[in-house]
Formats: sequence, structure tokens, C-alpha cells
Amino acid sequence: ECKILDGKKVASEVRERIAVMVKEIRESGKVPPGLAVVLVGDNPASKVYVGQKEKACKEVGFESFLYHLPEATTQEELLNLVGQLNEDPNVHGILVQLPLPKHLNETEVIEAIRPEKDVDGFHPMNLGKLVAGLPCTVPCTPKGIMHLLEYYGIEIEGKNAVVVGRSNIVGKPVAHLLLQKNATVTICHSRTRNLEDITKEADILVVAAGRPHFITQHMVKKGAVVVDVGINRLESGLVGDVDFDGVRLRASWITPVPGGVGPMTIAMLLENTLEMYERFS
Ligand code: NAD
Repeated sequence: ECKILDGKKVASEVRERIAVMVKEIRESGKVPPGLAVVLVGDNPASKVYVGQKEKACKEVGFESFLYHLPEATTQEELLNLVGQLNEDPNVHGILVQLPLPKHLNETEVIEAIRPEKDVDGFHPMNLGKLVAGLPCTVPCTPKGIMHLLEYYGIEIEGKNAVVVGRSNIVGKPVAHLLLQKNATVTICHSRTRNLEDITKEADILVVAAGRPHFITQHMVKKGAVVVDVGINRLESGLVGDVDFDGVRLRASWITPVPGGVGPMTIAMLLENTLEMYERFS
């Protein structure tokens, strides 16, 4: 019988805990934690994510500052805004929603955020520290995955962990976090040959490929722990990268989509904001 890694439930516990802490901060008369979210243009998925993040901030009592800039924003204008937020004492975390419109230089914008306010953990300073195993801001989705595994007591040490996907925001950081917990980690990507020979060896399989129902039952080892990061919008609704109905017949644990990694990501964004507030205010 396959069990559910219930991200919705675990995330709501995290949020409740944070709300209590913010209440205490506000009652003591201090400046509350503040998150600035910058959205450029009208990418529909980005608008949904930004809306969810804003709502989550308000629910726990954070200040949330939304900057919705037009598609035609120039690099200079965006860098000026980031510079201003870097200096703003009410802003403890800065999040620039990706992807940016094509004419903007994402790398340069991420590098302009003060690492101390880089709530997504995408600044090279934070990613470098992550790889070195030093204290840093950990990107929200990978952090949420690790939190979920820990919550359910999933053993990681010595296990074969396979990560499908090598993006800077999910695949690479989660592989490093699993390595830090002493898993034997394999990273697969679009040029990997004989993918299923590798995924079949996974005790822990993390999938972040952005391909609907890509991982099927025959690619999964019996008893594996399967974490589905994918969010794919089909006409039939939201689906993950894992064929949930098939894979659950072989896995011991699995995350649903929606209700798995997604809510954890938002909860970790709140946690990162609070951590930055505590460290730097
Ligand atoms: P990305 O497009 O940057 O990276 C996808 C990765 O998958 C690449 O490294 C690519 O090499 C690999 N890949 C693609 N096709 C493959 C194939 N056929 N075989 C093996 N590997 C293949 O995506 P990303 O930003 O890492 O996001 C991945 C998915 O996770 C997307 O569906 C995205 O929407 C979702 N996502 C969800 C959350 C969340 O909170 N749940 C957060 C971030 C991303």
C-alpha cells in the first residue's frame, strides 16, 4: 500500500507555526517581516504563483510588497528597483519571479539582489555555499522536498537517490541536499541514455523534468519513494511529471500533484523570509 507524502498538510503546519511567531513579533511592536515580490509582464503561470505567494504572506502576517512592472520594463529600470529594495529596511526578502521576459538578463538581475535578501537562494553566493555545505539560503522547492522527506521519517543515508532534471532552481540544489544527507546521488537530464535503467535503481526518485506523466510504473523500483515536482497545465487540469495512478502501485511513498511539493515551496518561502528577518533585522 503506497502512502501519501502530504505536502498540503505539512505546509499548513509550517504556516501555522510561522503565523504564531509573526503574531509575537507584531505584538512586541517590532517591524514585521517583509517580502518584496517583483513580477515583470503578464505570464499567466507567474501571475498565479505570485498571487499564491502574496496570499500566503498575508495569511501569516508578513508585509508583502508587490511590484508588478510592465512587459516593456528595461533592464536598468529593473536593476534600479532591485537596488532600492536592497536598501529598504522594511524588506527582508526579495523575490524576482522567473522567467523574466526574453529581453531581460535574468542572471544579472539575480546577481543584483543582496545575498542576505535573496529569499529564493538563486544568487551564486547562496548556491555556492549550498554546494560547499555552508549555511545559506536554500531554494524553496528543494528545501520543501527535504522537509517533506524528513517529516515522514524517510531514511536518506546510503540510499540511491535519482534526480531527473538539472535546473539551477530544482534539480541541482536538491541533488546536493540529498548528497549532504549521505545519499548516493545520480542526476539525469535530457541527454541521459537509458533513463529507465537508472530510475529503476532509485530508492528515492525526485522528478523535475516538466514533462507530463513522464515517469511511468515500469520505470520505478518496487518500494521507491517518489517525489513529483512537475506542474504541467493540461486541458484536463494540473498534472505532475509522474503517472500517479500507475506509479503508486509500485512506490511506497508518493507526492500528489497538486498537494505535494507545490504547497511546500510556498511554505519554505515564508520560512526563508522569516529566517532572513531574524538574521538581518
Ligand atoms: P527546467 O525546464 O528548467 O528543467 C527541466 C529539466 O528536465 C532539465 O534539466 C532537462 O535536462 C530535464 N529533462 C527534460 N526532458 C527530459 C527527458 N526526456 N529525460 C530526462 N530529463 C529531461 O524545469 P524546472 O524549473 O527544474 O522545473 C521542472 C518542473 O517542476 C516543471 O514542471 C516546473 O513547472 C515544476 N516546478 C514546480 C515547482 C513546485 O513548487 N512544485 C517549483 C519549480 C518548478
